[in-house]
Amino acid sequence: MTQTRIIDGRAVAQAVREEVREEVSTWIAQGRPAPRLAVVLVGNHPASASYVRGKRKASAEAGVESETLVRDENISEEALLDLVRTLNADQEIDGILVQLPLPEHISEKRIIHAIDPAKDVDGFHPENVGRLLIGDPAFVSATPAGIMELLSRAGIALRGQRAVVVGRSNIVGKPLAALLMQRGTDATVTVCHSRTQRIEEITREADILVAAIGRAGFVTRNMVKPGAAVIDVGINRVEDPTRARGYRLAGDVDFDDVLEQAGHITPVPGGVGPMTIAMLLRNTLAAAQGAYR
Ligand code: NDP
Repeated sequence: MTQTRIIDGRAVAQAVREEVREEVSTWIAQGRPAPRLAVVLVGNHPASASYVRGKRKASAEAGVESETLVRDENISEEALLDLVRTLNADQEIDGILVQLPLPEHISEKRIIHAIDPAKDVDGFHPENVGRLLIGDPAFVSATPAGIMELLSRAGIALRGQRAVVVGRSNIVGKPLAALLMQRGTDATVTVCHSRTQRIEEITREADILVAAIGRAGFVTRNMVKPGAAVIDVGINRVEDPTRARGYRLAGDVDFDDVLEQAGHITPVPGGVGPMTIAMLLRNTLAAAQGAYR
């Protein structure tokens, strides 16, 4: 049997970030202002704060200017809506990202719907989701966009292939299914979820199997067709007393079990995760270029 290829998401993400950096520098050399991203962070959720720091650092490296607007967790929904409207109107801001989750008293839906779709670099606004579905150019949310980039750069054929996506969330499963089935990409897509019966019979038919579930080690060898490309989106904390922090990160795929069965596989960490920031930078550049106005 041919050896399984482990897809190195860090290396692919680095390549995309380098491409964005070069494009940004050309853009600036043509006399235009650096792309500018506004990141709104509400409260002091440690994971969110860490994501935001990562985005700020990666932006700086790519030549994208970012400003982080931190607001108290007691901010009212109206005040946050006002902030979004101010950023919408600010000609110097190209992209707006509101870090989720938001405190419970604020409707994430209302906030996301208030973002100007032309600045919606997260691709969560219904206008961008709708455009994606009908095949019009759109901001696509970073994780599914990153998965498509990984598949493409790993040379995995999609046309006419059977793709199975486990998970139907609005930020991963659904947009990914839309991307895979798009004309020109041409995979045949099945989406599974918590109500799916005999799921292993479906996943075993997949040439490309994507797990976006949020359950550590859910996908085992018996669920995978020999030679399939297995993309693991899951980021789960698993208790591990041998680690100083008391846990390790694990994907939705039982990596060791599936490794020899798969043709390609993404590790966790170091697979899909690093692509998210890279695609966000690409979306911010596209916003500055007015790509989806
Ligand atoms: P959600 O919780 O929003 O969705 C999970 C999906 O998995 C749901 O559609 C759910 O079905 C389905 N599901 C849950 N249990 C089962 C089961 N036993 N069998 C089949 N399907 C099941 O999660 P997200 O999509 O936001 O995230 C999924 C995972 O990906 C998480 O681990 C998350 O941390 C990670 N993630 C990683 C990112 C990155 O790498 N940058 C970005 C975003 C997410 P139902 O709809 O029926 O409830």
